[in-house]
Amino acid sequence: MPFRRSAASHATQSPHAPRTARVTTITVDGLPVTVARKPIKNMYLRVRPADGSIEISAPLRMGERRIVDFVRERRDWIVRTQTRLAKVRDEKGGMRADPRLTWTDERRREAEATIRAALPELLAKWTPIIGRAPSHITLRIMTSRWGSCTPKTGRIRLNLQLGLLDPKFLESVLVHEMTHLWNTHGHGPEFQRRMDAYQPNWRQLKRELNRHPVMQRP
Ligand SMILES: [Zn+2]
Repeated sequence: MPFRRSAASHATQSPHAPRTARVTTITVDGLPVTVARKPIKNMYLRVRPADGSIEISAPLRMGERRIVDFVRERRDWIVRTQTRLAKVRDEKGGMRADPRLTWTDERRREAEATIRAALPELLAKWTPIIGRAPSHITLRIMTSRWGSCTPKTGRIRLNLQLGLLDPKFLESVLVHEMTHLWNTHGHGPEFQRRMDAYQPNWRQLKRELNRHPVMQRP
């Protein structure tokens, strides 16, 4: 049984895995790759939708060198696929409407008063840090986003619902939109670099905020 020679000593096979699959983890240019050795003829690559992890099914006797080359040749595709899957996950975990939560005049007044009262201090704090200030801030009921920004006019719109949530979310969305005043062209590297500098936990705050159900228009 010559193929048994290729069984790596660091194999992490679970006792319940099929006897024919031997699973190891390798790193290719910083990408962790799970390699499952199976009695198959060809190599297969898969990016798991649940977490973007990379899995290779490889023939039992294939050399690690060929597996590494296989991953390298497909690196662009892998990264594109991981990005696309992450976006889908974000959207799924994103704004979800709750039909029980509907705006009333009272909630509206309360939210608006809360945001208007908080803004002067927030702007005084963040304008010198970010180095840009909005020309206008408008508050409105929004059902698909927490805020938006038009860098050309300097206008920022905030979702009125932020006035009914933990104030840290209003602050984080304001910082996010003020960062767009730098004309970051979406959420690419420049945007992320700035946000990391201004508010290192912005991703966590965004995830937390997106777990809140969105209030419906009356
Ligand atoms: Zn944005």
